[in-house]
Amino acid sequence: RPNSASSDEHSRIRVVVRVRPPIQEDYDHSFEAYEECVNVIPHTGDNPSKFLTLTRSHTDERDFMFDLVLGSDIQQSSMYGVVAEDIVNDVLQGFNGTVMAYGQTGTGKTHTIFGDIGNFQGINASGRVDSVSAKAGVIPRAVQQIFDHIEQNQEETEFQVTLSYTQLYKENIYDLLDEDRSGKILHLRESSRTGVYVDGLTALAVTSGTHLLDIVSVASKRRVMAGTSMNQLSSRSHVIMFITVEQRPKQTDPMAPDPVRRGVLAIVDLAGSERVSKTMSEGSRLDEAKKINQSLSALGNCVAALSSGSGHVPLRDSKLTRLLTDSLGGNTKTVICATVGPAECNYDETYSTLLFASRCM
Ligand code: ADP
Ligand code: MG
Repeated sequence: RPNSASSDEHSRIRVVVRVRPPIQEDYDHSFEAYEECVNVIPHTGDNPSKFLTLTRSHTDERDFMFDLVLGSDIQQSSMYGVVAEDIVNDVLQGFNGTVMAYGQTGTGKTHTIFGDIGNFQGINASGRVDSVSAKAGVIPRAVQQIFDHIEQNQEETEFQVTLSYTQLYKENIYDLLDEDRSGKILHLRESSRTGVYVDGLTALAVTSGTHLLDIVSVASKRRVMAGTSMNQLSSRSHVIMFITVEQRPKQTDPMAPDPVRRGVLAIVDLAGSERVSKTMSEGSRLDEAKKINQSLSALGNCVAALSSGSGHVPLRDSKLTRLLTDSLGGNTKTVICATVGPAECNYDETYSTLLFASRCM
């Protein structure tokens, strides 16, 4: 039986699985062959793929069903169209929306969320993102969509876009937009008026798409370094970006109710979901791994509660889920893109990612 049937087109939570194409690491030592263990059941006609099978040693087959399965041939532009475009449209209507990538390190989370952000052509005087590179992921394409919308509607509507950009490492929140205090730990606060917020987090007003992307590419290099390489560290921290779009009509009827619309787009590149073996790591590394597991399982519990419609959503169980309070509940639409590698050598991690994704349905 397919793993889940509870999700439908109108669900506030959509679960997409993306399979990365094979890369060098997937091949055997002779670089000649690799064993494939993930098989996407191809789409038929206009129906997108929803099924995949996971096999080990050509037997032991497990079937999964998701809202959508993207095979390794899916390009970034098509991915964006089915994963994020609707959510960004909602944000432009004043709703909150969230796009997250979940998966083992090396399976394509950062490729999906960021891709190539430093490469946009045809920058004109207004800072419009005329075209993004083929490799661009969710962030540059969302920024392009938002600012295209603004350009088309700025006669009647006044827009304000603000950016916040944080890193969550070992349950500590850092502000990636703050040059001076990038090592400073920020704290979550809660008030009845504003809900949960990060005290002192920069919210930068951005004037154009290229302005935003320039800031993000500089800030991305500012991650807390802990004596490890950038890639290792980036796989062990969550990176969360909030793009807030506020709009008000230029001509307002003084009798009309509050005309301001405000939508927040949260884009999340989660820490690698892989289990860190206890024998291989100790001290700080083990602590790190425990905290990642804790926040990812808290996230899984919240999303599972939201999609099953069961009353209690345990948002308070981790910093990650508290930080995402306004980006998960209520009217928010959320897409979880679970990324997996195709090779049998990653079978266990792939299976665990698919189980996580199934629980979110
Ligand atoms: P993660 O962030 O999950 O650790 P990355 O996004 O860094 O993984 O991806 C690992 C490698 O695989 C990178 O070199 C990336 O460019 C490549 N890659 C990932 N997904 C794809 C894809 N769908 N198409 C082509 N290359 C990909
Ligand atoms: Mg990454």
